[in-house]
Amino acid sequence: MTLIRNVCVYCGASAGTEPEFLRAAVRFGELLAAARVGLVYGGGNGGLMGAVAQSVLTHGGHVTGIIPDFLVEREHMLEAAQELVVVPDMHARKRLMFERSDAFVALPGGVGTLEELVEQLTWVQLDRHEKPVLIADIAGFWRPLLSLLAHMRQFGFIRAGSEIRYLVTEAVEDILPMLENAAKAAPLAARRRPLDARL
Ligand code: AMP
Repeated sequence: MTLIRNVCVYCGASAGTEPEFLRAAVRFGELLAAARVGLVYGGGNGGLMGAVAQSVLTHGGHVTGIIPDFLVEREHMLEAAQELVVVPDMHARKRLMFERSDAFVALPGGVGTLEELVEQLTWVQLDRHEKPVLIADIAGFWRPLLSLLAHMRQFGFIRAGSEIRYLVTEAVEDILPMLENAAKAAPLAARRRPLDARL
């Protein structure tokens, strides 16, 4: 049985400087579509966000875009998505993205991506959910964040007993199998629990 049916992707509203970033976003969209795993994302049409969503659509997959109304124009909402949910604010967006997804993937991005990724890591740390969180370290983009997390561990701010669980890979092909394995390893009771009720 496939546990991962919808994956939330956090990534830049810009494309970034390295061609690998765009290639990874396009390839991941293709892999999502091939695996019949739906994309949940911020609903924009630009940068890596637009690239991953357009790739899912091009390859016959399913896209759910969740966007606050004040960003509909600014982030050029992707009209072609099968499902577009316009929400009143950022909080509603993040909550709905969480509820609609079985796992979270961070591709390269800016502070918006960082904020969304770190929020998921804090929810995992506080035992609010067991959905897998994966850092896609494309071309080593997230190395500074991984170093910062190691630094926090070294200085006693991430401690045994309040560990944060996350997966890391540099290979886009590994993402879906890693998420599926992590979901299978989560306690059955946790999977059955209405995760959203615990936020
Ligand atoms: P960025 O990674 O900065 O290019 O932003 C990527 C996406 O994150 C954009 O769609 C932003 O609207 C969104 N974003 C920016 N700030 C936040 C935030 N505080 N919470 C959730 N999403 C955000």
